[in-house]
Amino acid sequence: MSEILLQISELTKSFDDTGPVVNKVGFKVYKNEIFALLGPSGCGKTTSLRLIAGFEQCDVGSIYINGELVEAPQKRLSPQKRQIGFVFQDYALFPHMTALENVAFGLRDVEKKKRPVLAEAVLCRTGMEKYKHRMPDELSGGQQQRVALARAIAPKPRLVLMDEPFSGLDAMLRDTTRKEVRAILKKAGMSAILVTHDQEEALSFADRIAVMNNGQIEQVGTPEEVYYNPKTQFVAQFLGRTNLFRVHADGSTDVETRFGSVKLNKKASGLVLCSIRPEHLTIERSNSDSEESGIITGREFRGHDITYHVLFRGDKYIVHTDNRVLFDVDESVTVKPLEAAVVLEQKS
Ligand code: ATP
Repeated sequence: MSEILLQISELTKSFDDTGPVVNKVGFKVYKNEIFALLGPSGCGKTTSLRLIAGFEQCDVGSIYINGELVEAPQKRLSPQKRQIGFVFQDYALFPHMTALENVAFGLRDVEKKKRPVLAEAVLCRTGMEKYKHRMPDELSGGQQQRVALARAIAPKPRLVLMDEPFSGLDAMLRDTTRKEVRAILKKAGMSAILVTHDQEEALSFADRIAVMNNGQIEQVGTPEEVYYNPKTQFVAQFLGRTNLFRVHADGSTDVETRFGSVKLNKKASGLVLCSIRPEHLTIERSNSDSEESGIITGREFRGHDITYHVLFRGDKYIVHTDNRVLFDVDESVTVKPLEAAVVLEQKS
């Protein structure tokens, strides 16, 4: 296991008497790791990032960087001394400085005459050297974001914090810039924390993700873990479309549902809340007399796949099939699970 770079425990922050907006948050970030804080608007992601950067003061808890205590109610290191780089949503480049001057500006600890040389080397690493004399308003959004990244990594920070850095870019540019930024960070061996409310972005950009809701972390794991093995209903629903259903379990991993037998990912008993992703179900034509058949009530063509809505005696399910599997609305079908359903809650 890699070395721990950042260790956060019990981090809590309130702004007023409406209760904490960051509530006992704890997680670790390893060296060379890209970590994402993912959650809906207002769940406390930016406040967590600002506490790490030192722009806000915590009420309770602690933050260690490289084993050094940088934030606690009784002890604080100023933001300048934390050696953290910050990339903002709006890039925040100085409009009156060229790309090169923007990057050189952050190199305050370097001898003045060496700054442009170093800044150029970092611009080179982000593929922006040919734009070094351009002003920010002469650069596209993606290019500005790469200059902003160059400025953040030029002073060799211990950690780069990125607050929704891709949200100002259109869909295509967002995708390519994301890939480039990830490659640059990995090549530079930098650790970073990305704040985003976009699950697809977190899943494709980060090595591990902390899913936040209402000031608290619900689950930390790799993209595959949080997507395929959500621990809570919130995580299951926030990470993408899913089917939730309740069944009675007898202590084994086999249960009977409206659409037939289903395996669970672990033994369960009592009333169990389960989740199964639409791509983990498949549909087959059936005759309408079958006990286990349902009716297709809707179809969404999504290019690479098709989403079907299937109704089973009052319960609706969604199923993703590849785009060659064609059914009509009102057809009778059976649904078969391809994977085990994930147990989210059990009540005996
Ligand atoms: P978004 O994705 O919309 O930026 P977020 O998850 O980053 O949301 P935060 O910006 O951390 O959420 O805000 C969490 C809560 O704290 C919100 O209810 C917000 O209104 C409140 N909040 C943030 N900063 C302050 C402040 N300086 N004073 C008072 N309340 C604040």
